[in-house]
Amino acid sequence: MHAPNRICTASHCVAPEDTAELPIVDILDDPDPDLAVAALARELSEVMQTLEDIAGILGACSTCFGLSTECSYCEGHGSPGYRESTEPALLEYWKRALIRGSIRLRPA
Ligand SMILES: [Zn+2]
Repeated sequence: MHAPNRICTASHCVAPEDTAELPIVDILDDPDPDLAVAALARELSEVMQTLEDIAGILGACSTCFGLSTECSYCEGHGSPGYRESTEPALLEYWKRALIRGSIRLRPA
């Protein structure tokens, strides 16, 4: 059984390295569905790791960012600042950049 919020990295779920740099469209066009699924699993794993890294920097719950009262880790209390940042210097840089306006957040 997989741990929550983790993507399987077992050999049956990991694509060979020769697909590592292929654009996602090329992966989906692969005639071998097992290879395509494994490549997509790897891509998803990388995205999940990036989200986990960002949550760590923000000090947020890496499962829901504090957006779900049903979250088994934080029960919705895991918004940024919920825990210590894993990269406090980087977080401070982002905060200053936001205040200066050199980073702009666009509404969805
Ligand atoms: Zn959470």
